[in-house]
Amino acid sequence: MTKFVYGFSEGNKDLRDLLGGKGANLAEMTNIGLPVPPGFTITTEACRAYLDSGHQPAGLAEEIATHLDALEASMGRKLGERGDPLLVSVRSGAAFSMPGMMETVLNVGLNDASVDGLSRQAGGNDRFAWDSYRRLIQMFGKTVCDVPGDEFEHAIEAAKRAKGSDDDLDLDAGDLRDLVDRFKAIFAKHTGREFPQDPKEQLDLAIRAVFESWNADRAVLYRRQERIPADLGTAVNVVAMVFGNLGSDSGTGVAFTRDPASGAQGVYGDYLANAQGEDVVAGIRNTVPLQELERMDRASYDDLMRIMATLEEHYKDLCDIEFTIERGKLWMLQTRVGKRTAAAAFIIAGQLVDEGVIDLDEALHRVTGAQLGQLMFPRFDLSAEPGQLAKGVGASPGAAVGRVVFDAVTAKEKAAAGDDVILVRRETNPDDLPGMIAAQGILTSRGGKTSHAAVVARGMGKTCVCGADTLDVDVRGKKFTVDGRTVAEGDVISIDGTTGKIYLGEVPVQPSEVVRYFEGTLDPGQTDDALVRAVHRVMSHADERRRLAVRANSDTGVDSARARRFGAQGIGLCRTEHMFLGDRRELVERLILAATPDERDAALAELLPLQRADFEEIFREMDGLPVTIRLIDPPLHEFLPSLEELAVHVAVAHERGEDAGRDEKLLAAVRRMHEQNPMLGLRGVRLGLVIPGLFAMQVRAIVEAAVQRARDGGTPKPEIMVPLVGAVQELETVRTEAERIIAEVVADSGVEVLIGTMIEVPRAALTAGQIAEAAQFFSFGTNDLTQMSWGFSRDDVEGAFFWRYLELGIFGISPFESIDRDGVGRLVRIAVDEGRRARPDLKLGVCGEHGGDPDSVHFFHDVGLDYVSCSPFRVPIARLEAGRAAC
Ligand code: PEP
Ligand code: MG
Repeated sequence: MTKFVYGFSEGNKDLRDLLGGKGANLAEMTNIGLPVPPGFTITTEACRAYLDSGHQPAGLAEEIATHLDALEASMGRKLGERGDPLLVSVRSGAAFSMPGMMETVLNVGLNDASVDGLSRQAGGNDRFAWDSYRRLIQMFGKTVCDVPGDEFEHAIEAAKRAKGSDDDLDLDAGDLRDLVDRFKAIFAKHTGREFPQDPKEQLDLAIRAVFESWNADRAVLYRRQERIPADLGTAVNVVAMVFGNLGSDSGTGVAFTRDPASGAQGVYGDYLANAQGEDVVAGIRNTVPLQELERMDRASYDDLMRIMATLEEHYKDLCDIEFTIERGKLWMLQTRVGKRTAAAAFIIAGQLVDEGVIDLDEALHRVTGAQLGQLMFPRFDLSAEPGQLAKGVGASPGAAVGRVVFDAVTAKEKAAAGDDVILVRRETNPDDLPGMIAAQGILTSRGGKTSHAAVVARGMGKTCVCGADTLDVDVRGKKFTVDGRTVAEGDVISIDGTTGKIYLGEVPVQPSEVVRYFEGTLDPGQTDDALVRAVHRVMSHADERRRLAVRANSDTGVDSARARRFGAQGIGLCRTEHMFLGDRRELVERLILAATPDERDAALAELLPLQRADFEEIFREMDGLPVTIRLIDPPLHEFLPSLEELAVHVAVAHERGEDAGRDEKLLAAVRRMHEQNPMLGLRGVRLGLVIPGLFAMQVRAIVEAAVQRARDGGTPKPEIMVPLVGAVQELETVRTEAERIIAEVVADSGVEVLIGTMIEVPRAALTAGQIAEAAQFFSFGTNDLTQMSWGFSRDDVEGAFFWRYLELGIFGISPFESIDRDGVGRLVRIAVDEGRRARPDLKLGVCGEHGGDPDSVHFFHDVGLDYVSCSPFRVPIARLEAGRAAC
């Protein structure tokens, strides 16, 4: 039969999914001999069974009874017994930390009779006993029976007023006894029943309430924001109460085993004498630095220091803890591996290696690509301590400064006039998109990390703070107010998309030191910047361990040079269409409008030297490394003016009686080429098959550039890639012509040219065995593969409805951001297997956006690709994640 309850001595830290983080670590601490009050944990499995069926699973009540018996035996007291009661706390604890999201009930077991027993236990301390009883009714009422919390608060306020004081401590035993009566009346009024006097009933109801708190609105919202699965459930910890509010020799505190911001070793924490845990959280009284405890209670302080050292040694990491001292005896109430900033994660990993606590492989697992990404954004220089205006959710990282605007039209206008603007809205919708594009940053007062604003901003790599709910945004009045201050259109603000902080005025922005290191302008051997040294060390190890190579997507010499400095081992995707823009647009127009083969050939002949020069530059910057150049991909009409604009031009010219000959020709071409679904139309290899000479010109330019590079003493390694292939015949046709040109141009230059294809149409993945016969390499175009597998238009859906899909949990993250392993990933696996079977030396890579996404990099490692390719800025992230995937 399923075991639903574990005593603390039965669990351990690895049972986190079953016992929740808190329960697993209480068990671990018990097992290594630390002073943990006795107790037991009801599993997340029991919670799930309860939530699924609406009642406790068979056998749970008996198991709880057995463990309660054992707990009573170990304490020598019975739950709620009148003369000498055992009291327990009932606490939630899920596998992922969800701070403050779920429920806790303390002092369970108190009733009209046992309150006197508690007083006797506490040496005749009536005040303490009645205070504990009123806390129970208050917490139980609020969390178990939904009694409005402010009614209790008002009653406390009234009692203090009657006493002429504003301090809880001035209420004496008699006042608290009266308050208990008052609380009971409030409880009865709202629940229609008396406060339960049976301790076992209290326990049973509290356990159910903690189970149910998994589905409380705020917990659901928090999970959605943090992408925690909705179906895990929470464990429930039932723990013997220890009291930090028994007098000046008691107290409660929190501590870190080292500084979570810098990683520095030392004593970090806060202590509050004569108080219970919730007093610290509620901020009722001011805490003192933990060092003070040394003076107040030397023995407990020494114990605590010893325990903290034991915990670090045992967990081999920074831990945070909660403790209580009851009359000079220290008790551990919680520990977990502590949260830390991105910088501290690297520094602490390095320190732990230096201290011999962990090895470098383990250090790699202590940091993430996402943390590295955070460290690469420019940061605000906060040395002048700018005043914080408000705080929201850091939804898309970066540091943005600009003038406040409240609508998309103004954002566009001001940006066009050269102003940096921050678009401020209550929430955004697809109509705001042009303003979001024009703005430096986006700030909203509503919505979390999956709101429209957040999803779109992340997609664009734009700084965004959302859900700053203290802001009262008045779009019509073109202002927002916060804490009595008004910020009007045109005022400058600064927003930090990592921390969610909002500042009034311009905060200076400084480049990231980590980027300077990657750029090569900061030598890790010369700097005393601990972060840079730690990043260097971890990155060097990642490079040593990783099996995946990392290339960059780049189409210019400048980007290629930067990518190489960032550690790219070649180019995985050079999008040649980017070379057809700007001044060259006119040449492309001529190509499209050519009425005869001669006109077309003349246009192609003019494009050829320009393309060749582009490729020469890239081969120079990437000398000795492979460069994958993709033949032109998008539909040609993307290079022509818009249909609407041209039509207006022509109509106006006609109206005025002017000659519109050229525009008319263009308009006719645009009409001719217009497609309802251009993404599924005449693009990629289809263009090459339809427009004679286009691919041939590009192939010639690539190979001539490579031969020139070789003549100049370089080592070019060109790889020609054909886009959007769905059938091997398409590839064979292009390949035959390309091989003819290559043979002619390469001659005896020694240059070797590979020909391969993108796998980005589902049919290509499903017929990869055939396609591999004609391809020396595959590069997965996961952008198009995702678009065509899901049937999602990649240019439209993110702003249009993905927020809703995220809200509904259809996916936890956009499939354009992180690979959909089940669907798109399956196609990749099929293509890898069948491609390699047909051609064992087939080179395999990926060049869609997913190549720089941490989670996707692990997937590509697992399926056995040779390399990932991503934008230059993400190259270090991919290197790190490839290293993590390999060990
Ligand atoms: C892709 O589809 O994944 C790809 C890299 O090509 P593009 O994004 O240029 O369509
Ligand atoms: Mg593509």
